[in-house]
Formats: sequence, structure tokens, C-alpha cells
Amino acid sequence: MSALAPFAASPERSRGRRYPEAPPQYRSPFQRDRDRIVHSAAFRRLEYKTQVFVNHEGDMFRTRLTHSIEVAQIARAIARALGLNEDLTEAVSLAHDLGHTPFGHAGQDTLNDCMKPFGGFEHNLQSLRVVDELEERYADFPGLNLTYETREGILKHCSRADAATLGEVGRRFLEGGQPGLEAQVANIADAIAYNDHDVDDGIRAGLLSLQQLREVTLFDEQYQLVVATWPELPERRLVHEIVRRMINRQVVDLLETSLASLAEVAPPDIDAVRAYATPLIRFSPAMGALHQQMKSFLMTHLYRHYRVLRMMGKSQRVVKELFDAFFSEPRLLPPEHQRLVKVREQAHGETGRARAVADYIAGMTDRYALLEHRKLFSPSDLT
Ligand code: MG
Repeated sequence: MSALAPFAASPERSRGRRYPEAPPQYRSPFQRDRDRIVHSAAFRRLEYKTQVFVNHEGDMFRTRLTHSIEVAQIARAIARALGLNEDLTEAVSLAHDLGHTPFGHAGQDTLNDCMKPFGGFEHNLQSLRVVDELEERYADFPGLNLTYETREGILKHCSRADAATLGEVGRRFLEGGQPGLEAQVANIADAIAYNDHDVDDGIRAGLLSLQQLREVTLFDEQYQLVVATWPELPERRLVHEIVRRMINRQVVDLLETSLASLAEVAPPDIDAVRAYATPLIRFSPAMGALHQQMKSFLMTHLYRHYRVLRMMGKSQRVVKELFDAFFSEPRLLPPEHQRLVKVREQAHGETGRARAVADYIAGMTDRYALLEHRKLFSPSDLT
């Protein structure tokens, strides 16, 4: 890795882990975090969790696993160019979606509705819960015992009520302030990745057309450039040439704008970054508007496409019925989860029971949730 900028997260000045551990021998603490994330069960399950398309719809679409890898790729490129800590940026990127329910946002919203009387459900907070508590891998501590910096990056947003329960990592949501730059980079890389790959997947699924997308400036500019050079390019290659140029344009804009703001503010260290009033990693206002235009287009034409809505409707029913069944009769749960329900119920009553059921459902992949639902509700599956 090239030399770190003074405002980068440095392993020597890390705020450390919740449970103290001897430092690794030939890795930095952030490399260790990244490695623990890659080896976690929650990370493997991302392979079968939906981004927009339900996992079994086709093998060609992004899943949360490939999405997370794309986020890490974009984020690392940005981090290196800014002199930030690549290992930390990668750790945050790979972990950012670990708390996602099956069936994307439809699953998250339904689980949140089910959990309303018990404190709600928020996927971002759940990502932190996965790495802090739910992974069961180490003898000396629950979770993955990641560094403060990685945990700070995973917690992208948080309500004040939740923040108040989280100790140091929740403080910036109560007192104002920013996470470190590596987290800011991972956050924007996430937005760049999903905007652009949802265009690609949307076209592949036949839900979006090139003609429709030409309403969007970011797309149309690159469309015109590519078609001017290669008028006969087949659609697949045309789409990729456009998408890769859109990603590049956003990344270059982000880098140039962020380099300028970092030069102007010149934060002496990561704590100055944290104390600054606004994020220092940002698009230019013009690119911010273009990015937003694409986001709104996808909201209207892809995320609310009738075929996507039908899928969402079905998956919401699956999540709700699973929750109701397990909550009202925890004996339907597999034994290890019955045990967790008991432990949490003893500590927190019904709220504890609900949280343990939500943890079980949130951990499911799309296909596992469908399978569990069939086992519980399909009369033809009586065995
Ligand atoms: Mg994401």
C-alpha cells in the first residue's frame, strides 16, 4: 500500500476492539477485520440474498455478494487515489450489507413492520449486530470483535433512539459528526455500484429499455459517445461500454471534488474528519444532481415495475407469515434458535422473543426463507 495521508485511518491509532486481543503478526488490524468478515457465515449467505431480483430468478443477476464485491472494488480504487486506508475501506464495503434480510427492501420493510411494537428492524443496525453479536465463531468473544473504525463504517445511519443504546459507536448520531473517510468512501461507492449495476440488470431482465434510459442524462451522454464511435455495437457490449463509462465518470468526479475539499480543509487527522460538519467525500453539485436523477429514474421504472412489485408482494407475505408463525409458536423453530429465543425472552420478555425471531429471519437467504415457508405452510409438504 502506498503512503497513507494524515487524515486516513491508521492501524496504530485505531480505537481498538471491544474485547482486547493481541495484534495479528503479519497483518494490520483492518486486514484482520476484512479477513474475519470474508470467513463469516453472514458473508457467505449474501450469495443467495436479493439485491433487486429474487435470487432464483436467474444466475446472471447481481446478488448481495457480488454487489458487495463491486462496492469493495470501486471503494478501494477511490481510497488508494486519496491516500486512505484500503484495508479498512474494503472491510467496511464487504460488511455493509451483512444485516440485510432476504428479498431486499421488501423483506426489510416487512420485518420492520412486524418488529414495530418491539423496537423495529433496520438492516444497517442489523449489520452491526451481526458482527458484534450474532456470528458465533470465536472462543473468547461473541461476534467478530472488529475494530471501532470498521464498526463505525458499518453503521451508516441510525435513529437517535437506537444510537443511545450503542455506546461510543452511536455517539455521532446524537452529537453530530462524521465517520472516517474510509467509511464515507464505502458509502458513496455503494450508491455508485447499485445505481449502475441496476441499470445493467434492469436491461438484462427486460424491465428497462435503452430508449427509456436515454431520458437520464448520465446514461444518454455516454450512450451518444459510444454510439458515435461504434454505431453497430451489439446491445450487450453497448450497455457495458455505457455502464463502465458512467461508473468512471462518477468516480473521477468524486475524486476530483473530494481531493479539492480535502486540500481546502486539510484535516490533520481522522478525528478532525469526524468533527467536521459535513462529509468530505462528495460529488460535485452537478454530479450529485445527475446521480440523483438516475436514482429517481430507477425508483420509478425499475423498483416499482409491476413485475418487481409482484415479486415484492409475494416475498412480503413470506416474511410476515414466517414471523407470525415463529413468534406465536417458537417451538416451530430449529432447536438452536429455540434456545436463543429462550435466552432472549428470559432477559427481555416478548421483545427479546421477537428480536430472536427477527434475527433468525434476517439471517435467511431468499431460497431458505421460501423453503421454510413451504415447510410451514404447504399442505403437500407434510413430511
Ligand atoms: Mg449496498
